[in-house]
Amino acid sequence: MLSVSEAEAIILNLVQPLDQKQDTEVVNLLAASSRILASPVTSRMDFPHWDNSAMDGYAVRYEDVKNCSAENPAVLDIVEEIPAGYQPQSTIQKGQAARILTGAVMPEGADTVVMQELTRREDNRVLIIAASKPQEFVRHRASYYQAGTQLLPKGMILNAPEIAVLAAAQSTSLPVFRKPIVAILSTGNELVTPDKPLQPGQIVDSNQYALAVLVKQSGAEPLMLGIVKDEPIALEQAISYAIAHADIILSSGGVSVGNYDYVEQVLELLGGKIHIHSVAMKPGKPLTVATFSSPHHSLYFGLPGNPVAALVTFWRFVQPAIKKLSGLAEGWEPRFVKARSLHELRADGKRETYFWGQISLNQEGDYEFQLAGGNHSSGNLINLARTNSLAVLSVGQTLVPVGEQVKVLIHN
Ligand code: AMP
Ligand code: MG
Repeated sequence: MLSVSEAEAIILNLVQPLDQKQDTEVVNLLAASSRILASPVTSRMDFPHWDNSAMDGYAVRYEDVKNCSAENPAVLDIVEEIPAGYQPQSTIQKGQAARILTGAVMPEGADTVVMQELTRREDNRVLIIAASKPQEFVRHRASYYQAGTQLLPKGMILNAPEIAVLAAAQSTSLPVFRKPIVAILSTGNELVTPDKPLQPGQIVDSNQYALAVLVKQSGAEPLMLGIVKDEPIALEQAISYAIAHADIILSSGGVSVGNYDYVEQVLELLGGKIHIHSVAMKPGKPLTVATFSSPHHSLYFGLPGNPVAALVTFWRFVQPAIKKLSGLAEGWEPRFVKARSLHELRADGKRETYFWGQISLNQEGDYEFQLAGGNHSSGNLINLARTNSLAVLSVGQTLVPVGEQVKVLIHN
């Protein structure tokens, strides 16, 4: 059986990221939030656009103030007042200064700003009572960014800071990757939708909803295909529709060794190439991964039906695959940290074992992992609520005593 890291390497290697030419669309600035840039952005503007003042104070010539002090102030004539948004009219000559406010354009002739607190105003003159450093409190044109160079790289996710930069650069329409389409289908004769009364033996298809939410959170578009019976013909129809319409297909259930587990058989019938049959992890062992090359390249995940196992395998393998496929240049790998376990964690050491719980920062700023209460069966969906992470015991690791460090995958 494949180890988790072997399975991860195979999966990430099978991902074909969206194409920079074909798989893009142009959106406006607000719609670009949380989207991924499909080409680098450059600007024709320098940042700052002009030399400006970093302080409220006086724009001066350094030569005029370099030797002054409280006992021997420089006395300068004020020739102009320059608020923000105003174009200075005069050139500062020897013995002159301009009153200037934060962000305002530096006047010609001046090279230094003296902060207001180190001056004394007397009518139309200002006394400078401490020496400045040359060019102090001047923000120079192009010192943050030079026109024509790369402002933001391709493959970057656009969050508030990037949207602010793009707004400032007046880049109002942006090339972004389209959202990957992820088809979701639930297999099982026992499944019903949440709005139907339950007959004996039936259970609600919760996986469809959980997976749709996770797909959205991963930046993709869920295509919810509903419940499919454990019948080869029904599965064949649903899966062939899914591979024609999606970049990634997620099914849950039907991948164990039971008599009604037809998914792998149908995948092969439809021309799928199966790369993974099972993974040495707990929960999540019966994970199937396949690829299709027609009608276009698609990646198929047959997730286990058990609700917890379906989500654990999603967090561990599917989420990074969606993010890598979506064009993200970096940061698609799962996020692991070390945390102090508040509970004893025990495993048989045969498979990599995942424990669901809640990670938080304690008062010292260190991570702590609190195991979810109750029964840790992969069939128990209820205690998965209010969790945000998975503690991981590797193969061979059978015990994490209370208070010891454990590796934790943060998934929210
Ligand atoms: P399977 O992998 O099909 O053998 O399913 C394993 C267990 O997960 C069974 O108890 C199923 O009833 C349950 N299960 C399967 N699919 C779903 C689903 N979509 N939502 C909730 N539970 C499911
Ligand atoms: Mg089933």
